[in-house]
Parts: sequence; C-alpha cells; structure tokens
Amino acid sequence: MRPIDYLNELSFVRRGGSKEERKAAEMIARWLSDIGYTPHLEEFDIYSFEPGWGTLTPLSPSGEEIKVRPVGLSADGDVEGEIFRMFSPKPEFVNTDDIREKIVFMHNYPRWKWIKLFVESGVKACVIVLANHRENSTIALSQKTAKDFGDKIPLATMSFEKAISLIQNGVSRIRLKTSHKKFFAKSQNVVCEIPGDTDRMVLFTAHYDSMPCSPGAQDNAAGTAELIEVMKNFAGKKFRRTMRFIFCGSEEMGLLGSKHYASSHIDELEKVDFLINLDVGGDPFTPICVRTLGTDAVFNYIDGILKRNGIYGAVEQNIYSSDGMPFAKYGVPSLSIARSGIDGKGHSPFDEAKNVCDVSLKEVVETALIIAEDIANAKILPFERKISDEMKKKVKKYFDERR
Ligand SMILES: [Zn+2]
Repeated sequence: MRPIDYLNELSFVRRGGSKEERKAAEMIARWLSDIGYTPHLEEFDIYSFEPGWGTLTPLSPSGEEIKVRPVGLSADGDVEGEIFRMFSPKPEFVNTDDIREKIVFMHNYPRWKWIKLFVESGVKACVIVLANHRENSTIALSQKTAKDFGDKIPLATMSFEKAISLIQNGVSRIRLKTSHKKFFAKSQNVVCEIPGDTDRMVLFTAHYDSMPCSPGAQDNAAGTAELIEVMKNFAGKKFRRTMRFIFCGSEEMGLLGSKHYASSHIDELEKVDFLINLDVGGDPFTPICVRTLGTDAVFNYIDGILKRNGIYGAVEQNIYSSDGMPFAKYGVPSLSIARSGIDGKGHSPFDEAKNVCDVSLKEVVETALIIAEDIANAKILPFERKISDEMKKKVKKYFDERR
C-alpha cells in the first residue's frame, strides 16, 4: 500500500472514544502487523459525546428557527435571553454586569477561563460563531472544563453567515435549545517499537483520531499514513536507539492519548532523547513546516540537517499544539512536521482525501526519515535533552489556557 492508500482508507470520522476511532486503531494495528511489527493497544478512559443538534429561534423580532450544534460535553438546555456580543479579547476585561442573564455570542473558543466567567456571572447560554465552512462541525469542551462546568451552561455553535444576519436584522432576544448524548468511553493508543542497541529512545507520534464531524484527511490521516510509511522503511533495520511509535487517540479532544502515554510511562521518559511528531499533511505546494521545541541547539541541528539535504523546510522554534506537548512537560525535546494547505479546511467536514496528494506525503516521509536516522544512530547528540526556559514558559501558558 502507498501512503495515500492508507489515507484513503482512514478518511472517515474518527471521533475520540467512538467505535469508528477504535476501528481505525485496529486497521492501523493490522497494517503494522503486515509490515512486520508487533503492535499493541493501550486503552484509556475519556468523557466523550455524540454530536447533537439544537435550534435557535429569534424572538424579538421573531424569525425562522435556525439549526445549531451543541458544543460537545456542555449542558443541554432550553433558555431564552437577550443577546450580548462578546468581543473582549480576554475574560479578565469583561464587566460581569454586562453579561448577567444574557446569551453571549463570540468567536473565542470556549476555554475554561471563559466558561468560568460565564458561570460565575450568571450567563444563560453561549453561542460560538464559527467560520462558515465549519457550520456543521462540532467542537467540544476540554475534559476539565466539562468536569467543572459541563452541567452548568448550554453552549452551541453556528455559522458566521447566520450569526451576522441575526445582528444585521436587529435581533435582540432569542431562544436556544440543545441536546446531545454524553458518556464515558474508551480511547486507545497503538504502540510498537524496534529495540535498539542502547536503552536510549526516540519516540514517534501521530494522532489518528479526527474532529467529531470531520473525515480528518489532512488532519491527521496524513500524518498517520506518513508514520506507517516511515516504519515500513525502518522494518528489519537496527538502530543505536530504541525507536518507539505511538499512534495517539483523542488528540482532538485535548491531546488525551499523548497525555495518557506520557503520564503512564513517566519512568521511561528519562531515556527519551527526542520525539518526532507528524500532524497535518497533504499539500505539495506548501513548505514543510518544522517546529522544534527544545533549545537553540535543537533548532540549529534540525535546520542544518534539512539544509544539508536540500529540503525546503520552514524551520521555526516554537510550541506546536499537538502530541509533542505533553512530553515537553517532562523535558523531552521534539519536533512537529506539518504541511497544511490552502484547501485543507482542517477541523471541518471538508477536510477530505481529495485535498491530499501522495507526493506531499512522500516528501514528508523522506524528511522524517533523514532526521530520524541521524538521531537514531548518533553516538553523541549535538543537543542536550532539555527544554529552554523560554519554551518552558510557552508550554506552561499553553496548558494553563487549555485546562
Ligand atoms: Zn491534528
């Protein structure tokens, strides 16, 4: 099978904790067995949901009912209230008297800080206004936000186009009704390795789940297919370091697979010299974006490898919101390779296989192979196993915001 064949087979909705996600995990495990590996599944518990529907009805002036989607893991409800347009960039700036008893409309992702503010200020409900192509997508509260406030306030999403017409028509009062199923479920990581000559390790991650209503072709059937192809190239080879491969579940629900892996393998993480994460791919016209998360030495080393090999990479030192992050907390330096494009429409129902090209996948595979082999066989690595203070701060801020 070519990388694109894996991608085509994986391009169905693979929401974290669903039976489709489990099916994808089993497909990956089967493919890995076919190329000579011995994969196993590592399960973990998550709080999950089935995307539902809701309605928004303009009351003053009255108008036609509009379909909306509940935000996953938020409270279901049936409320009436006045609209408040929230365009404060930060919850800290908001005068709570302005929003009491209101239904807040905003673009901001419903993160813990915002929901805490709304619950404490007596907001009745909140509508998240999404880009038009995401109209039928479903977003979800983080596990902690759901635990702390999930039963407190109904949240829904709607398209920018429809939301703007409400405002344009002077609608000041609406009724919002939402309903969806919430439950505890199992998600899983697919894990296997090539034992090395030493006990030092290199980890590889790629998440195989998708957003709740997205076939997730670029994000991240692409990275999954790329990682399988990397492993095909490694099959039967021996390296100085142990190569461990983790196909992560429930990344889109808040990096749950990689968080679970890191916290349940803490004792081993001291041995991990580096992590390579593949997340988002498929467009052959965009640069191969490489984000390094570690120190200047890591950045210089990776930038040097790409340049020596004539690879057009856009190398940058920064955090990348994906499965490398939970490991950074334990001091494991990493890089993420991403190649999205103009027509990817990530996190939406339009992230389809037709926007992915095998040539792009193969170029990322080649890049990952060159970097991985260099690290896997280096006698002494030209960087410390360390995250700089500046990057540590960014990692901390990232996790604080995404409680
Ligand atoms: Zn992704």
